[in-house]
Amino acid sequence: MSEDLYSILGVSRNATDDEIKKAYRKLAKKYHPDLNKGDKSAEEKLKNVNRAYEILSDKQKRAQYDQFGSTEQNFGSSGGGFGGFGGGFNGFDTDFDLGDIFGSFFGGFGGSSSRARNVARKGSDIGIAISLSFEEAAFGCKKNIRYQRIIKCNACSGTGAKNGTSKSKCRTCGGTGHIVMGQRTPFGTIQTSQVCNACNGTGQVIENPCNVCNGQGLVRNSENLEIDIPAGIDNGQTLNIRSKGNAGTNGGPYGDLHVEVAVSSHPIFSRKNNDVYCEIPITFIQAALGSNVTVPTLDGKAEYHIPEGTQPGDIFRLKNKGIPFINGRGSRGDQLVKVIIEIPRYIDDEQRNLLKKFESISGPKNYQKKKSFIDKIKKFFSNW
Ligand SMILES: [Zn+2]
Ligand SMILES: [Zn+2]
Repeated sequence: MSEDLYSILGVSRNATDDEIKKAYRKLAKKYHPDLNKGDKSAEEKLKNVNRAYEILSDKQKRAQYDQFGSTEQNFGSSGGGFGGFGGGFNGFDTDFDLGDIFGSFFGGFGGSSSRARNVARKGSDIGIAISLSFEEAAFGCKKNIRYQRIIKCNACSGTGAKNGTSKSKCRTCGGTGHIVMGQRTPFGTIQTSQVCNACNGTGQVIENPCNVCNGQGLVRNSENLEIDIPAGIDNGQTLNIRSKGNAGTNGGPYGDLHVEVAVSSHPIFSRKNNDVYCEIPITFIQAALGSNVTVPTLDGKAEYHIPEGTQPGDIFRLKNKGIPFINGRGSRGDQLVKVIIEIPRYIDDEQRNLLKKFESISGPKNYQKKKSFIDKIKKFFSNW
């Protein structure tokens, strides 16, 4: 069993983000490899501290962790449940089937007394991943997804008892959920309490189980869901869709669905937050003379005037041609266009003569960088 993440950081369960950060910094310093050369236990502790901080510093992961108690099965980095995004799914398709991501669902729900066994619990969350094109993420879209989840059985309204019947008190344990047994030992009779097998500790039995769900009250269902992807969503962001996770037990609410978004790269554009980047090649003559160029944008063609004397790597900003801000009421980032200046690799005789002529009538006034460089050098080398 793994140690409680809060106690690893030495903070209380309701510690603020700031307190968590402070505690983490202190411990990270304490167990830093530079201060603990070759100390395996410090290394191990640092690992635990990092792991705890990774989860507790992330709002969503922390909430998830709080909900699931101190087990960390939901955060495994290699495949498996929620948090294993990317690791657990093969390929991102528009329509995909997640199959058995909650295979162990029917394995029983902890708890030691009939009260604990009958308590309403929120259903578990489900994590899925979808892939979007660059444009879909930029402008938003609707996506149909298919996934499996556990829902309440319709036939018995989730009770597990055949329609019209209800659960009855367990006769074996009299409804207490446990059986007290006397065991003879050399030291006398010891009374032990055991979970009642007949009712699994719930104190209730179903005499006529629902034949749709076999008395479980829950069934596995393949869901088709249309999700609204908001314009401006970015790679790695997660949409949380309430109550679209697994059904709770004993009447508890549904868990949530977390949809993690992977955005495909684009052959022309790249993205940083809400700005779009692209590069356009222009000729060295265009750079020198200035020129009108056509720039590709997410909205199509845009005309831009490159000024005379443009330098390699100069970046021009096209306002409001970037990615919309999520819930930004139409406001958008910018597009940044980097100029790549192309110098011809081959020229013919006529061109060579024209360039030589140009060179012969050019001087320091045309080349400021070169001039200031030579001025600098002359200060160091008197014979330059
Ligand atoms: Zn049923
Ligand atoms: Zn019983």
